[in-house]
Amino acid sequence: MSNESLANLLKEERRFAPPADLAANANVTAEAYEQAKADRLGFWAEQARRLTWAKEPTETLDWSNPPFAKWFADGELNVAYNCVDRHVEAGHGDRVAIHFEGEPGDSRSLTYAELKDEVSRAANALLELGVQKGDRVAVYMPMIPETAIAMLACARIGAAHSVVFGGFSADALATRIQDADARVVITSDGGYRRGKPSALKPAVDEAVAKADNVEHVLVVRRTGQDVAWSDERDVWWHDLVGRQSAEHTPEAFGAEHPLFILYTSGTTGKPKGILHTSGGYLTQTAYTHHAVFDLKPETDVYWCTADVGWVTGHSYIVYGPLANGATQVMYEGTPDTPHQGRFWEIVQKYGVTILYTAPTAIRTFMKWGDDIPAKFDLSSLRVLGSVGEPINPEAWIWYRKNIGADRTPVVDTWWQTETGAMMISPLPGVTEAKPGSAQRPLPGISATVVDDEANEVPNGGGGYLVLTEPWPSMLRTIWGDDQRFLDTYWSRFEGKYFAGDGAKKDDDGDIWLLGRVDDVMLVSGHNISTTEVESALVSHPSVAEAAVVGAADETTGQAIVAFVILRGSAAESEGLVDELRNHVGATLGPIAKPKRILPVAELPKTRSGKIMRRLLRDVAENRQLGDVTTLTDSTVMDLIQAKLPAAP
Ligand code: ATP
Ligand code: MG
Repeated sequence: MSNESLANLLKEERRFAPPADLAANANVTAEAYEQAKADRLGFWAEQARRLTWAKEPTETLDWSNPPFAKWFADGELNVAYNCVDRHVEAGHGDRVAIHFEGEPGDSRSLTYAELKDEVSRAANALLELGVQKGDRVAVYMPMIPETAIAMLACARIGAAHSVVFGGFSADALATRIQDADARVVITSDGGYRRGKPSALKPAVDEAVAKADNVEHVLVVRRTGQDVAWSDERDVWWHDLVGRQSAEHTPEAFGAEHPLFILYTSGTTGKPKGILHTSGGYLTQTAYTHHAVFDLKPETDVYWCTADVGWVTGHSYIVYGPLANGATQVMYEGTPDTPHQGRFWEIVQKYGVTILYTAPTAIRTFMKWGDDIPAKFDLSSLRVLGSVGEPINPEAWIWYRKNIGADRTPVVDTWWQTETGAMMISPLPGVTEAKPGSAQRPLPGISATVVDDEANEVPNGGGGYLVLTEPWPSMLRTIWGDDQRFLDTYWSRFEGKYFAGDGAKKDDDGDIWLLGRVDDVMLVSGHNISTTEVESALVSHPSVAEAAVVGAADETTGQAIVAFVILRGSAAESEGLVDELRNHVGATLGPIAKPKRILPVAELPKTRSGKIMRRLLRDVAENRQLGDVTTLTDSTVMDLIQAKLPAAP
């Protein structure tokens, strides 16, 4: 961004109060904000008591060597015990922990008692393979229960897991195995994607040939497809885990014992190994899952549609929900297999009450049409969540109306791999919701928006999102690279965590996320957010999805170029393009009118579903494309380039 702060163009007047019954019975009320404001550390010390500690912490935060934080440092606990055993001990062994739904339609449900046996067996198996406390284990798996079991087994014996998303290449896996020095890899023959088995083991074989520090590969049989086998190195999960005892006594580890390393998706630059530790991480994931989703473990059926390979899967499929004793759905496949109503069929089948998904999925459902969810009974739903990108107000409204029967609150949760857990979000029983805004830092969290000189912007102003106080689930460092940790997050603004996202405050002081700072456009001396222009485009009835970039322009510095996906029924025409330009002009003002608008069939997205604007910028500026390896589908770029007329 330039010195000029971000223009504040979008005005959203719609408001949605919490449903009265939800507000009356909410887990968390407005008082939590007051309590945390009066005594932030006392508030977190109280939340830490949600966990079962082998040794209760007496210390809350040690910030004597900032920004290297220690939370609950003299406490000791076992994370897997907290996620599994204690629920069985409390008499909830028969409660379902995971309803697994395979893509081909196979399903199985695991109770907490069964999960305890499986995690204990897997822990014993890892010990037999020589894994010790403090070691790292790489996990490269499809979305099946064994993935969560593997992660919990690592946590149980004090080994840090490094989950690598199953869609990543052998090279990406090899780099991550080497960076973390993992000696054991847990994988499967494959998983089901888009109606057919998709292999994983060959990528592991290739990665392990490069990363020769790996001693053992533990392989779950999921699809039954043929696999190459090394007798010295490879072992089947059903053989090794299957013959272990279901007894394993969990050892207590220090609160700052490493729990996992997770490499950020690499939307920008070389992946960073984000390190999370135990006590603070579990405290904040459990608290936020309880507060933001209003989880009632006895009656709710929760479903987070993320992949376990992303932080959302770590914090809101594995650790938060299981620490809270939730019953959840885990789905292996894609939303359009075998038909575009698959998600809604699953909601109906299990009576899902809380759904957590991403804007990219919501916009895809919008594009497919309202009639698809309308065919299913979605009346069990009571809270809807969003994460991953800013949600366009129109997508938010669509979600509430078509999935939530115009009744359920929508919580837009802002956070990152680095923050470990949710940071900014409405509370469903408290907040009067504004479509498109994450609104307010959660109780115990301090966030604000600053300008270039680190001054807090007034209400109505825009700039950079920063976190001003340490939080329990914060990253502790970048694995093996403290200097990069300091440079990336703590050097831009003295004493504050720089999130890398643009944001603004509205007249009430609520926070709106405006996309990555690197994506902000500079048009005739004004900083304009890609998010606001995209949201204006999506608010037109013909547009399902939009990606906006600033392309170099002789007269205005940058000119706005928009790529749009039209809704099912809309037809592409000159007239429509003019109409869209005028619609943006009328919504945001003339400065934000795109110079060019190109209807396209698909947009380039990362494997976690985020729009990759830098590639579109390359196209708009007629440049050679940059690195496309993290794209879901690189042929998308060929289609877009073919559409682009020569620059006017
Ligand atoms: P990399 O850091 O490697 O480029 P990434 O930032 O996409 O990858 P994540 O940590 O999964 O990896 O994503 C966090 C980012 O996603 C945030 O910094 C923000 O840009 C965006 N984001 C997540 N949730 C929201 C939200 N509710 N509103 C706006 N933006 C969001
Ligand atoms: Mg990031």
